[in-house]
Amino acid sequence: MTLKSKTAVVTGSTSGIGLAIARAMAREGANVVINGFGEGSAIEAERSGIEKEFGVKAVYSPADMSKPDEIEGMVEEAVKTFGSVDVLVNNAGIQFVSPIEDFPREKWDQIIAINLSSAFFAMHAAIPGMKAKKWGRIINTASAHSLVASPFKSAYVAAKHGIAGLTKTAALELATFGVTVNCISPGYVWTPLVERQIPDTMKARNMTKEQVMNDVLLQAQPTKEFVTVDQVASLAVYLCSDAASQITGANLSMDGGWTAA
Ligand code: NAD
Repeated sequence: MTLKSKTAVVTGSTSGIGLAIARAMAREGANVVINGFGEGSAIEAERSGIEKEFGVKAVYSPADMSKPDEIEGMVEEAVKTFGSVDVLVNNAGIQFVSPIEDFPREKWDQIIAINLSSAFFAMHAAIPGMKAKKWGRIINTASAHSLVASPFKSAYVAAKHGIAGLTKTAALELATFGVTVNCISPGYVWTPLVERQIPDTMKARNMTKEQVMNDVLLQAQPTKEFVTVDQVASLAVYLCSDAASQITGANLSMDGGWTAA
């Protein structure tokens, strides 16, 4: 178990990729802080399920990743509860699909806040402790959209390109402190976020559901298969291992060949 007696904070982990990462960290022995929105009883079932299944402590933080004070509060609370934050996974993210001229201002602000600025604020709070311990792992869930664009996703693509730059900057600042900072850039992963954008894409492109699945989503992915949440989680666990100590500032694609094209 590579993460025994360590603490992992995973933002946006009540669902999808974040939940799979939180569970994978717990499987490796880490105490975990899960975060995100959802129905109280479902979140509590996940939290207590993690404790039972993996024999670690799991706490839930309801911090809203669009609110800097709540983000910093989440990290402070994790340190108070567990003594340190050793692994920070900035994963919370939302999507909105619309041509730029119709893109609502508040959606732009919300996506930049949740998908980009939240990672800055969480790092701002967690880095001093990691530097002091001379060990840390920061993993940002970016996207193939941190490397290439698609139409109608202006805020998302801007935020994801931004997080790739933030990752590189933090990696350089922390290079001599035993703290690595990387991003994982999945292609299309089958999660509620992908499922939810199908109706908007149908509207924006005037397509049927099948056309959106085959001609838009998997059209970009040469393997013609969705990435799985467990595959992303495995890479996150690997990045926490000693074997990965010299991987820092990297943007690791897991996209079925999408960005090779
Ligand atoms: P998801 O919708 O299943 O999960 C998103 C999580 O973020 C949920 O737990 C949700 O509650 C949480 N969240 C949303 N707004 C929040 C807020 N304001 N404060 C706190 N938590 C909030 O989506 P997912 O597909 O698992 O996406 C996770 C990350 O992976 C995102 O950053 C997304 O951009 C990225 N990503 C997803 C795909 C994909 O195909 N699914 C591909 C590339 C990158």
